[in-house]
Amino acid sequence: MSIPLSSWRLPALLTAGLAAGALLGWLADRHVASGVALVAVAEIVLLLTRIRHQTRPIMAVRAPITPLQHDRFMTRSRRIASSLRDLRSAASQLPDAVVLLDHQQQVRWFNRAAENLLGLRRPRDRGQPLQQRLAASDLSGWLRDGALEPLNDVAAPGQANSQLNVSLLPFGKRQHLLLARDISHLNRLEQIRRDFVANVSHELRTPLTVIHGYLELIDPEDVPELAAVLGEMRAQSKRMGQIVEDLLTLSRLETQHQVADERVPMASLLATVRKEAEALSQGRHEITLQSSAEADLLGSPKDLHSALSNLVSNAVRYTPAGGHITIRWQRTPQGAMYSVSDTGFGIPAAHLARLTERFYRVSSSRSRDSGGTGLGLSIVKHVLNLHQAQLHVESAPGIGSTFACHFGHARLLMPGGSDES
Ligand code: ADP
Repeated sequence: MSIPLSSWRLPALLTAGLAAGALLGWLADRHVASGVALVAVAEIVLLLTRIRHQTRPIMAVRAPITPLQHDRFMTRSRRIASSLRDLRSAASQLPDAVVLLDHQQQVRWFNRAAENLLGLRRPRDRGQPLQQRLAASDLSGWLRDGALEPLNDVAAPGQANSQLNVSLLPFGKRQHLLLARDISHLNRLEQIRRDFVANVSHELRTPLTVIHGYLELIDPEDVPELAAVLGEMRAQSKRMGQIVEDLLTLSRLETQHQVADERVPMASLLATVRKEAEALSQGRHEITLQSSAEADLLGSPKDLHSALSNLVSNAVRYTPAGGHITIRWQRTPQGAMYSVSDTGFGIPAAHLARLTERFYRVSSSRSRDSGGTGLGLSIVKHVLNLHQAQLHVESAPGIGSTFACHFGHARLLMPGGSDES
């Protein structure tokens, strides 16, 4: 049963709902419009239901209705119809495309942005299956496969050179709401940021090499009073050089969409990684290698080496002397896993989700003292993404950490042979 609302309460409630939607949208993904769109559509559905509920008893009454009842009903209907118009016109002005779909994914309603971004036309497309209307676009296959995850960076069917972020949200009885947001300007900003970082790193590379070269030429024994300063200058110029190299590596990985499919012999890569760990540890840790996967990887040997050795180098740098480090390469039901476990400082749970961000450090002083650039795990994440692999981290402060890279079957090869394992 619907609750009668006085003339001012209904618009006030609808407005409050929209404000709450804006707040939720902002909290969920920093985008007010998507929250407002969701609430607006929910309110439209609610109002339609109210109209139905309110008219049903009146229609069902057998006795003739009195003029007073008729007037009340008409006033209420006009008020609701006006709220509905307001909501519709608000939703049609949203910058994001909004498409209401029925239980058969046929188009029930769409706003103006959906015409521009998705190329929908009214009245032509009303009642048409959306998948059919978008047959020429990547969105069609995504809808056919159930649209379980949002689709990012897809070309806008209705607007050349625009990219969309699209999601399909269920509501009501098997109905859906398709939301599409134009992310072209974000992509452009991201491109500017990438170019800036790449250009700055590139420009810094030569002067740093020159400075480092001259510093190497000065023999501390010739200037004993400056020996300590010279040592520090050399260490810092080396660190800056490493940061520049890591930034250039990241820029390259970010612009790359796929890697060369080469065989990466794991037996020799694991042996190299272990040797590097021993050189870095200089006998301060016990390092164990357990390799039972009997599989090679398919991908970029250089990038995989960089990622796998980064994890080992971190284990050495964040484990106090006397600790244990175990490198494993083993089969899993999904493929194979490369992992590095240590008995080091560990990482509090609050930091785990942000570890792969550039320059994110749990402890800045410890990272700097250990010679880190703050970019290692960011590189690891990008390399793994390019190999369709995932990084999982488990850690407990004071006990240690395990960084595991999970590779799928498609990335595995039989050692020495040419067949997939
Ligand atoms: P860094 O060059 O600072 O080591 P990374 O991106 O490799 O940069 O790592 C980011 C941060 O994650 C480090 O600063 C450190 O705080 C934490 N970290 C990484 N690996 C480990 C580990 N094995 N044990 C403890 N902390 C770690």
